[in-house]
Amino acid sequence: MKFILLLLLLAQPAGKAELRQKIADLKLKAFEMQMQIELLEKQLHDVEEAEANLPPPTIQAKPPVKTRCSGHNKNGARCSRNAEAGSRFCWQHKPRR
Ligand SMILES: [Zn+2]
Repeated sequence: MKFILLLLLLAQPAGKAELRQKIADLKLKAFEMQMQIELLEKQLHDVEEAEANLPPPTIQAKPPVKTRCSGHNKNGARCSRNAEAGSRFCWQHKPRR
């Protein structure tokens, strides 16, 4: 479609002033595009640099894994509660001090 439009534009006779105007417009567009390309290249460079400086992902980003209580209930079965943070036992089975 663009190609056909271009052909139609070229086929039409155009005055010198019109041609100069078109050239000026296209030059301006080319300049603007060059600026955009440079800006995007700079952004890409910044992103790549930031990625390179990032520390390797750690497991700290994940929520702490819940561990099951190591205690046993009256029937001798394994306690089904979750252990408290930093402990192997739940609130009921944790060793008293
Ligand atoms: Zn327990």
